[in-house]
Amino acid sequence: VETARVIDGRAFAARIRAKVAEHVARLTAEHGIVPGLAVVLVGEDPASAVYVRSKGRQCREAGMNSYEHRLPAETSEAELLALVGRLNADPAVHGILVQLPLPRHLNSDLVINAIDPAKDVDGFHVSNVGLLGTGQKAMVPCTPLGCLLLLRDLHGSLAGLDAVVIGRSNIVGKPMSQLLLGDSATVTVAHSKTRDLADVVRRADIVVAAVGRPEMVKGDWIKPGATVIDVGINRVAGPNGKDVLVGDVDYEDVAKVAGAITPVPGGVGPMTIACLLANTVTACCRAKGLPEPE
Ligand code: NDP
Repeated sequence: VETARVIDGRAFAARIRAKVAEHVARLTAEHGIVPGLAVVLVGEDPASAVYVRSKGRQCREAGMNSYEHRLPAETSEAELLALVGRLNADPAVHGILVQLPLPRHLNSDLVINAIDPAKDVDGFHVSNVGLLGTGQKAMVPCTPLGCLLLLRDLHGSLAGLDAVVIGRSNIVGKPMSQLLLGDSATVTVAHSKTRDLADVVRRADIVVAAVGRPEMVKGDWIKPGATVIDVGINRVAGPNGKDVLVGDVDYEDVAKVAGAITPVPGGVGPMTIACLLANTVTACCRAKGLPEPE
């Protein structure tokens, strides 16, 4: 059997990071500017802690400043909002990211909407959501942006292609559908109430799975030759009792049918942080009135 082309998100992300580092080096040499990203982590969620560490490290590797704020799980909303206010006012901070999920007693909508939209490198502030939805210049959420870059690289134009996004979360599914629509794909957004999901997915030239259900998407859901982007990151018990990471797509099964597929890990994951770095440089350039990286 033929197998799908494996989309190398790791290599693509490394190229983005190299371009970011180049741009940062120029900003620093020519203007004395060092872009800065502030990451706020509340509580001890182990997966979040891993992401935050990795964001900080990659930031520094690209020549940017990383400011990590770790707050205890019992931090009050007022304390968190006060920190966001200080970061909004800090001229050395060009990007602010509050790691989600927040502990249950904190209203994440309220906190995210307190971030200066110009510094909202996650693109979750309502005004960035509105700008994206109306086709205006926005800060675009990193994970869907990473998926879009992979798809454009593979397909060139997405115009007229049938795209099915499985999942409608504010952080992945919805912005993904907006981006695909912006690139003139014909977009269907599926979710837990969708009827005959397999039939819906079978129409798609492009499938983006952002569900959070290990290996849910099967090979017989996929139109032969379709491109499959797997956003899912699920920790499951592996054969020897150790946890392994799997996506929302049954990789072995789908790779027999798809034209191209992202692996987990090594697909969308690395693209997310690369896009975060790129968004931070973009935010910095916009703040300084300097030309943005393309
Ligand atoms: P959410 O849990 O917020 O959203 C999941 C979506 O999937 C919901 O819209 C839900 O529908 C839908 N869904 C759940 N079950 C089914 C089902 N059986 N059939 C169809 N749709 C279903 O998850 P996120 O969007 O935050 O994340 C999705 C996945 O992506 C997770 O595995 C997460 O770990 C991963 N992720 C990866 C990132 C990366 O960098 N690679 C970044 C962010 C997330 P409904 O709305 O009806 O409940």
